[in-house]
Amino acid sequence: MSPLRKRIVLLGSTGSIGRQTLEVVEAHRDRLEVVALAAGSSLNLLEEQARFYRPRMIALYSEAAAELLRQRLAGLPIEVLCGEAGLNRLAEIPETDLIVNALSGFVGLSPTLTALRRGTTVAMANKEPIVAAGELLMDSARKSSAVIFPIDSEPSALFQCQRGDRDAVQRLLITASGGPFRGWTKERMRDITPEMALRHPNWNMGPKITVDSSSMMNKGLEVIEAHYLFGVDYDAIEVLVHPRSLVHSLVEFKDGSIIGHLGVPDMRVPIQYALSFPERWESRWPRLDLAEVGTLTFEKPDWEAFPCLEMAYAAGRAGGTMPAVLNAADEAAVELFLEERIGFLDIPRLIEDTLGRHQRVHAPDLETLVEVDSWARRWVREKAPGIREVK
Ligand code: MG
Repeated sequence: MSPLRKRIVLLGSTGSIGRQTLEVVEAHRDRLEVVALAAGSSLNLLEEQARFYRPRMIALYSEAAAELLRQRLAGLPIEVLCGEAGLNRLAEIPETDLIVNALSGFVGLSPTLTALRRGTTVAMANKEPIVAAGELLMDSARKSSAVIFPIDSEPSALFQCQRGDRDAVQRLLITASGGPFRGWTKERMRDITPEMALRHPNWNMGPKITVDSSSMMNKGLEVIEAHYLFGVDYDAIEVLVHPRSLVHSLVEFKDGSIIGHLGVPDMRVPIQYALSFPERWESRWPRLDLAEVGTLTFEKPDWEAFPCLEMAYAAGRAGGTMPAVLNAADEAAVELFLEERIGFLDIPRLIEDTLGRHQRVHAPDLETLVEVDSWARRWVREKAPGIREVK
């Protein structure tokens, strides 16, 4: 008799984290079952996944793409939905054990909120909704006793290091690789192209997060994420540059002990932990050989060369709508950078300008957050041409 399988809804199944999540599912087909899949585009891959995993439901971003997929999957018992309403339907499937949110960006907020309100556990690979709507999400989770589980390697490491000892935590030490431009001066950063920013030394991730890693905004967003997820003050969250990405984060306790999480930089490890929790399952991914590694090094971040880090701390401390503005301005600026319409150093310039223009709203609801999010994106796009010239 096969054991009871965990039923999983996977949002963002065609992206980097989504595909790696399916690799974990593949390795544990006896324990995991995919009941629904959602993707933004990548119609062909989604069709392939649908034929293989046979989920009950699928959601795509556009109605046109959904209609096309409906025709292609005609005859199979799979309902194809679209848009935000589609994502929310997936988040409402009864008897779901876990929703894996691997959507890129702010779009994952609405289904996350829907799931948490129903008391369903959400494993978040996508930090943007927690950054933008941390107070709202944590509050919804508290009310329904739902759990938000981090998939990203650093918050997952922090989660694992604190297990059972949350009350004795003194400081969180979040490690950062420093990205491809560690040690660079601002002067040298002027001519960074998207191609250069997309070459991350250690991790294999999607384009937005890879650019964020190169500007260190990714670490700033993780600081805000850790603040909300673990209820730790910003003063007690430190960023530590560790270029090899083998120590994924550490927790310092009241007695001075520091517990860290080590492993090869492979996203399938934290993904599998999120899917297996509270158990730990075997895996066949590569292992870390510490004797071969020899030396682990740590250093303080260069705050001057990477201003995104300080902006994230400031927005996090200000709270209310500020983290949402930071998040939206960053997403919009990174998009423009990837389209080669602004330079690398224009990313922090645009974000700073947007933060400076915003009137903070205290304890925002979903509607306010959505409004603020679209305002910040609009502002960045309107300001971009001017910013470029002052370069
Ligand atoms: Mg990370």
